[in-house]
Amino acid sequence: MLRSLLVRLRPGFHPGSPRMVHAVGQLVGLSWMVSQILGVGSAIALPIAPILPDLAPPAPVLPTSQLPDLDCSTVSDTSFYGHLPYPEADLADLVSVGSGVSMQRDAAASFEQLRRAAARDGVSLVPLSGFRSIETQIDLFYGVAADRGQTPAQRALVSAPPGHSEHHTGYTVDIGDGLAAWADLNVSFASTDAGRWLAANAASFGFELSFPPEHACVSYEPWHWRWVGDDRSRAIFETARRYDAQAGIDRESSESVPGSNPLTR
Ligand SMILES: [Zn+2]
Repeated sequence: MLRSLLVRLRPGFHPGSPRMVHAVGQLVGLSWMVSQILGVGSAIALPIAPILPDLAPPAPVLPTSQLPDLDCSTVSDTSFYGHLPYPEADLADLVSVGSGVSMQRDAAASFEQLRRAAARDGVSLVPLSGFRSIETQIDLFYGVAADRGQTPAQRALVSAPPGHSEHHTGYTVDIGDGLAAWADLNVSFASTDAGRWLAANAASFGFELSFPPEHACVSYEPWHWRWVGDDRSRAIFETARRYDAQAGIDRESSESVPGSNPLTR
């Protein structure tokens, strides 16, 4: 019913398309706002989760001249408070990297190499979060927002709305310092041995920081790394990387050079 309603409301939307996923995110957000007004918490938002559509690969990359403005302050066809829509990984493509965390197979292999290289330098990298389903993200976004009394706009500064998290792709990992757990998921992670080591070395393994201090819409997350070590992952994050370039984010020193990753060479 939700799909037919969306197709009727938004001609051109097809079940499973990224635009459809984005629209579902908007409806989930709308139901959340209604639930807040009615004072019933997230009880209305959560039943939507079981009817979320299957996800398709992201839309073709637009030419730079057609890249719409990224408005961090609202929900639009382009983004949800500055967060772009992402496809959910096929569970069959995911493998464990330990600690209950899973990633896309090739990204996981690179992460394992990254972790071993760090260990040789005496640095302990711990995976804190990898692949996340849209259902999990509904809890993380709307559930936590309800607990904290945050609006979706406030929540979006520090968390991606469901359907808009890089973690859905399986190519992203949150990393902690095994010797400094107090810095987990905190800006202070940047000053730990692990944070400094990653800043200097992660690019050699195909990883780049998704939300550096200069990011246009999302708060600084020195622990959140996305893998762009092959064509498929680079295609998924291409639009985000182009917006980053527009915002003046310079990854020249940490740019992943195709073929530089030992696993894809
Ligand atoms: Zn993350």
